[in-house]
Amino acid sequence: MHELKHLSQSELLSQTKVAIQNERKATAQILLCFREIESRLLYAEVGFSSLHEMAVKYFGYSEGAAHRRISTMRLIKDVPTVAVAIEAGDLSLSVASTVQNFLRAEARQNKKVYSLNEKNELVNSMKHKSKAECERDLRKISPLLIRPEKERPICDEFTQITFQANKKLLENLHQLKGRLAHRTGSDSSYAKLFMVMSEMVLAQIDRTPNPGLHKNSVARPAKETVISPSHGIVDKTISQNELKSSILSQTSFARQTSPERLLSGATATRSFSRAVQRMVWKRSGGQCEFVAEGDVGAGRRRCASKWQLEFDHLKPFARGGESIAENARLLCRVHNQFVAKDWSLL
Ligand SMILES: [Zn+2]
Repeated sequence: MHELKHLSQSELLSQTKVAIQNERKATAQILLCFREIESRLLYAEVGFSSLHEMAVKYFGYSEGAAHRRISTMRLIKDVPTVAVAIEAGDLSLSVASTVQNFLRAEARQNKKVYSLNEKNELVNSMKHKSKAECERDLRKISPLLIRPEKERPICDEFTQITFQANKKLLENLHQLKGRLAHRTGSDSSYAKLFMVMSEMVLAQIDRTPNPGLHKNSVARPAKETVISPSHGIVDKTISQNELKSSILSQTSFARQTSPERLLSGATATRSFSRAVQRMVWKRSGGQCEFVAEGDVGAGRRRCASKWQLEFDHLKPFARGGESIAENARLLCRVHNQFVAKDWSLL
């Protein structure tokens, strides 16, 4: 830095330009590295439940910086010229990630899927624009564009959560404010409403009989391998509710036996008993039990995810693994699929 003080004005400007070019080149390279890490599921292998978590906790990016890079990387998958545009300084990361968020929102909310040509054209039209200009142009295409939800820590105690509610949700929240007024008291804020609602829902969940499964996401489907009596091993996507009822009621799926078991004459179920589930849940602390084989820094990493947890056989049931606590582990969905890939079951 001391040497910079002795540079002339033109030398300082030219040195800054070179540094910025190097920064853009490095950014484009990082995006390609992220793409390769994702395609290899390397983040899962080293103990993270997502590339975003790895980008923040391992590579040291802020939440926002990680999000912008990962969104841009996903855009590059469809529009490879984005990497070139980033490197040339024609497109900023914030504009590229805004375009990617827009395309995702269009697909999810408006069921509108853009062709590769349309994506290319959209990206080209955003070159040399600021994020504000980009957002303004995107709203002309789709005024209902939803901005991504944000969590911004304010201090140890408070976090600002920003999201957009559609008309239906707003109506529901207004109704709930009225109906729960006896619980929220004089505080009519959304924060108080969400606190009261969260406590009510958690109390309701805690009254349900199965402590293992109810803490999982029940709204999203989980991948579960089941045994078909006539076709061997097949994959079936079932919801957590179906999985729960399957386990609780010991359905015909659950009663099927593997070829090895049929040969040995043994009988067993692929589901874990509720006692085993409770034991595993307690042992795991309600957290994914995947531990990375390799050490990528601070020891072998155990996954920190408490999201979409599923009970898994260490040795797959289809390969003769027993449905006992010693052969059971709790895995997040990412790691359940990751280990299943290793067993060639997916
Ligand atoms: Zn995990």
